[in-house]
Amino acid sequence: MKPPIFDYVTAESREHALAVLRSHGDDAKVLAGGQSLVPLMSFRLAKPAVLLDINRLEGLDSIEASDGSMRIGALTRQCELLTHPLIAEHCPLVRAAAEFIGHPAIRNRGTVGGSVAHADPAAELPVLLQILDAGIELCAAGSQRTVPADDFFMGLLMTGMNPDELLTGISFPLPGKGSGWGFHEVARRHGDFALVAAAALITLDDRGAVAGAAVALGGIGDRPVRVVAAEETLKGNRPTPETIQAASHEVDGAVTPVGDIHASEAYRAHLGQVLTKRAVHDAVERARAS
Ligand SMILES: Cc1cc2nc3c(=O)[nH]c(=O)nc-3n(C[C@H](O)[C@H](O)[C@H](O)COP(=O)(O)OP(=O)(O)OC[C@H]3O[C@@H](n4cnc5c(N)ncnc54)[C@H](O)[C@@H]3O)c2cc1C
Repeated sequence: MKPPIFDYVTAESREHALAVLRSHGDDAKVLAGGQSLVPLMSFRLAKPAVLLDINRLEGLDSIEASDGSMRIGALTRQCELLTHPLIAEHCPLVRAAAEFIGHPAIRNRGTVGGSVAHADPAAELPVLLQILDAGIELCAAGSQRTVPADDFFMGLLMTGMNPDELLTGISFPLPGKGSGWGFHEVARRHGDFALVAAAALITLDDRGAVAGAAVALGGIGDRPVRVVAAEETLKGNRPTPETIQAASHEVDGAVTPVGDIHASEAYRAHLGQVLTKRAVHDAVERARAS
């Protein structure tokens, strides 16, 4: 199908973009990589009166690391996450997760900001933002704010972003010394959205006990979720196979799996436990080796 008629506006500057968003509100949609929005428009599931193309805006596609934190601009293409030296050096977890996003053609156009703003519960980047305690930077005419990932993702394709706001970037503290990460997902075919994805970030203290734990799941419910009960089971304890197994069992009860034509509730619940165990195991091994 073809999309309904719309006005196409090229944003000439950030101020111009914010003015267009303010004057059109819900009737305008930002166009970044177009990899999710354009199919939605073609299916007429999205019918914006105004399409605001932000691809020519400058200063929105940088990746920076300083003072123990990393910032990734909203217009950074997903393919950059696979090759950028700062990601490889400071946060290889981001690269590992990005490898699961679609296919090269999609990652070449798809942006970091687009994936976050679209808020597909099975997308990889939103799950990462949960365990990295990331902040999502939002800008409107005359104001800007940073929203914690946990507050940003509100439901299926729903976020805490207002219609007049532009997502300008994400930022997060870099995992410190003694930290390790794990990321696992199951999809029907490589490049498909995850049926379930699990991410873990573990920090060990000098005695080898868990000093910090962050565990999150994607694809299992209507938004990416932190599995706090699993984190609490790990914290303060030595991460033995038994402790990791006990932590993975906490998935049951901590999340409400959804069922659809791709996977039943029971299968997603099962995957949630298995992938949590694998992600935490890998995170512990990497923390021990760091
Ligand atoms: C076949 C296929 C397979 C895919 N597989 C995966 C996968 O496995 N994992 C995965 O994570 N993704 C997958 N994707 C989606 C892909 O990652 C998209 O790139 C991403 O979801 C949206 O990014 P985009 O830059 O293309 O955004 P767009 O499609 O341009 O926009 C998406 C939404 O975000 C809004 N938006 C975009 N940028 C901003 C901004 N800066 N400020 C405010 N709002 C903004 C738009 O208005 C729109 O509502 C797949 C897509 C396709 C077509």
